[in-house]
Amino acid sequence: MKRQEFKFIIVVLVAVFIFYLLIARLRSPRLFSVESPNRIVMNTIANIIAVAPDEKTAQSGIDAAFKEIYRLEKLMNRYDPNSQLSQVNRLAAKEPVKIDKDLFDILQKSVYYSKITDNAFDITVGPLVDLWRKCAEANSMPTEKQLAEVKNRIGCDKLILDVNDFSIRFATEGISLDLGAIAKGFAADKAVDEMKKHGAIGGLVNLGGQIGCFGLTGKNSKWIIGVQNPAKQENNQAIAKLALSDMAVSTSGNYERFYKIGGHRFSHIFNPATEKSVDLLVSVTIITPNGTQADALSTAVSVLGAQKGLGLIEKIDNAEAILIRADDKNTLIKSSGVGKFILK
Ligand code: AMP
Ligand code: MG
Repeated sequence: MKRQEFKFIIVVLVAVFIFYLLIARLRSPRLFSVESPNRIVMNTIANIIAVAPDEKTAQSGIDAAFKEIYRLEKLMNRYDPNSQLSQVNRLAAKEPVKIDKDLFDILQKSVYYSKITDNAFDITVGPLVDLWRKCAEANSMPTEKQLAEVKNRIGCDKLILDVNDFSIRFATEGISLDLGAIAKGFAADKAVDEMKKHGAIGGLVNLGGQIGCFGLTGKNSKWIIGVQNPAKQENNQAIAKLALSDMAVSTSGNYERFYKIGGHRFSHIFNPATEKSVDLLVSVTIITPNGTQADALSTAVSVLGAQKGLGLIEKIDNAEAILIRADDKNTLIKSSGVGKFILK
């Protein structure tokens, strides 16, 4: 082949290549990514990112997601006397209380997670939470008498749920439900659903570290989520970074929320069996496709400790965990399949 001919073929090939690149670019739609400002909801800081073919769709996804989170907060906040959960806590020992389908749904799921975690997860811990909070305010440890009194009011076996009329009734007096360990995960799932319904093709909901993500980012990559290093909180340093899509992440840590009595810090998570605050793990991160599940399991594993907790996670399909042991070195313990999510 002559030199001239060879040059001509190369020029044609390069032109064809550039032409295909241009066509491919025109075909792949431009994506818009909109990030909300931080908002305070469910007693934490929330922010949401939506990815959509146009800015208006992305924004309407964010608005719908927040609307849903506020609606759920109004149903499930036990510290709001006007919430439906407060109504249940006041009345259900006297009569069955008919409730919203979503509240019924989360209560049913809570009972399920109580069963599969050997009662480590238990939404009837309300009286125990109240007792420890009052003791922290008075700077005195709870007495054996106080703990014994609370014990009779704990246990999901005391909840009577009727699926026929979506009602709940308590089998004894003095029960107080606390959805603090599962409501954010549930709300993140619902917020993701709302964004999808409104046309978003990707998105991330962050409810104070409870994360739900779907699709890809505006730059067509997976979502990068940092697992907080408890020892380096001041500069928000991550101990591990996860690359995820269509997944939820929940971290339960005793380093952010705690009670202080006599100079000691006590975790806000309690073992319903011993009524003591848990201290085996500094942080538990659970990665599963479902936020409600991730939230319930991160609390449960904090109670169960590394060995039992990891044993449980290994038995559950599509659930992975990163635990940080409460020792001098903050030792990391990982479930067998979590490596595929960790950025090297
Ligand atoms: P999380 O940060 O998701 O682990 O939830 C912790 C919150 O759930 C606490 O602040 C309590 O309100 C509540 N809680 C504490 N211990 C338990 C438990 N063993 N099971 C369910 N909820 C709990
Ligand atoms: Mg939780």
